[in-house]
Amino acid sequence: MRESWQDRFAATPDVLKSTGREQTIVRVLDIEIGGGEFITMAGPCSVETEAQLMATAHSVRRAGARILRGGAFKPRTSPYSFQGLGLEGLKLMARAREETGLAIVTEVMSETDVELVAEYADILQIGSRNMENDSLIAAAARSGRPMLLKRGLVATVADLFRAAQLAIENGNPNLILCERGIRTFETAMRNTLDAASIALIKQVSHLPTIADPSHATGRRDLVSAAARIGIAAGADGLIVEVHPDPDTAWSDGDQSLDFAEFDAMMAGLAPWIALREDEMRSRLENDLDSVEVVG
Ligand code: PEP
Ligand code: MN
Repeated sequence: MRESWQDRFAATPDVLKSTGREQTIVRVLDIEIGGGEFITMAGPCSVETEAQLMATAHSVRRAGARILRGGAFKPRTSPYSFQGLGLEGLKLMARAREETGLAIVTEVMSETDVELVAEYADILQIGSRNMENDSLIAAAARSGRPMLLKRGLVATVADLFRAAQLAIENGNPNLILCERGIRTFETAMRNTLDAASIALIKQVSHLPTIADPSHATGRRDLVSAAARIGIAAGADGLIVEVHPDPDTAWSDGDQSLDFAEFDAMMAGLAPWIALREDEMRSRLENDLDSVEVVG
């Protein structure tokens, strides 16, 4: 007999759907992730300057984004690359929230920064490179802030669930999972978008799940197609890198959209998002008793 998902993921029971717990909705400000609205998070890879961040925040908000992304602490391939503005970056993110009403998500890279980042951020991002950093995940979870858990570069879905289980065991059910591409033998793209993993996660887990078409492809010209694939696979939202002038970006310019490209992507995705929202809403109506709102 075929192995059940319950057996396969038996090590992480709290991540799996169960009777009375079909869907978690993570509430941030006035936003519900995993509810009836498809949520787009957008913004620069790194916070660079006030002008860069404010212009981006206003532009992505007008195009329909609900959450501003932007790294103040950056995990970089080279120690000589820009490492982020740190506290100054967090302050700029908070100012952008004040100006635009967007919620903010930003990465925390070290246990010792959790308290500081949690003071500013609405959602703490755990980056791919830290998905197996148990002490960081536990500390971030204990802050009580909602968390965006990005799948590691070489992590299986079971590994991602393990990270989520750890956060839940540390008292934090406010989790959003993110498929951001994994390492495969393909080198033409930065990573390989594992679209079926989104379908799998949505089938077996109650946690809201989003797609990151920017890091998944590493290429501006593939971002909107990868976003559409993520939506079709059942994602509850997207996280997308946007920059006023991607060619001069301090990090991840190759995969960042400019404002016009983001506007065009959002307009092109609208019918796909509308279809996905129909599904999300009918699921909520059918599962009314088993939706858990956290946050
Ligand atoms: C990012 O979001 O800019 C980032 C570094 O993502 P990841 O951890 O998925 O590489
Ligand atoms: Mn990036």
